[in-house]
Amino acid sequence: MVDAHQPATDPHKFKRRGMLFVLSSPSGAGKSTIARKLLGADDGLQMSVSATTRAPRPGEQDGRDYHFVDLPEFKRMVSDGEFLEWAHVFDHRYGTPRAPVEAMLASGRDVLFDIDWQGAQQLFQLAAGDVVRVFIMPPSMQELERRLRGRATDSDDVVTRRMERAAAEVGHWDGYDYVLVNDDVDACFDRVHTILRAERLKRSRQTGLIGFIRSLTR
Ligand code: 5GP
Repeated sequence: MVDAHQPATDPHKFKRRGMLFVLSSPSGAGKSTIARKLLGADDGLQMSVSATTRAPRPGEQDGRDYHFVDLPEFKRMVSDGEFLEWAHVFDHRYGTPRAPVEAMLASGRDVLFDIDWQGAQQLFQLAAGDVVRVFIMPPSMQELERRLRGRATDSDDVVTRRMERAAAEVGHWDGYDYVLVNDDVDACFDRVHTILRAERLKRSRQTGLIGFIRSLTR
């Protein structure tokens, strides 16, 4: 039977600080597949849903993939301090609503972010010790272009601009704690999941550890 007065002895069950787990990559490098697999495999993790001024792509749902807002609404959210971070990406604005992230952290969950390098940098400035930044590289730029063209939701022009943007995005690899190459989606997912689990065990995140150590040394 579990004795509520005894501290947990399994490090996975110690009370700990929530983590802001950032996944960035150029579009088409497989980040959304990996994010989906992580959320499916790990119920201690919840996704932050960003707001954006871009139009929904076919199949995207408001409130699930993004909160699709117009420019005046986005500007209002910025001036009312509703974003943890926001940035211009391509020709649009994207931002992370603050309140849901705070609620998820307060409920003891870790939060997953699919944001670009500018967002990763801003979150790091806000809460360095709680942020883990993972960058996913495509195996090659040729493979990235093939994947973007295969997606068929974007016009040639958009693909060309995304490729330019991808080259710029890849140049920010050194602003991340981990850099992985997605040459095989299952292997890459395993690596990301390993990082998530190891980061949870860091001493600095284990606020419950101190009670356990005290019980050992009493
Ligand atoms: P897409 O339009 O392909 O969904 O996203 C374009 C880029 O915007 C991706 O690199 C994505 O990670 C980034 N992005 C999405 N939401 C946010 C956000 O809230 N903040 C920032 N900084 N970037 C975001």
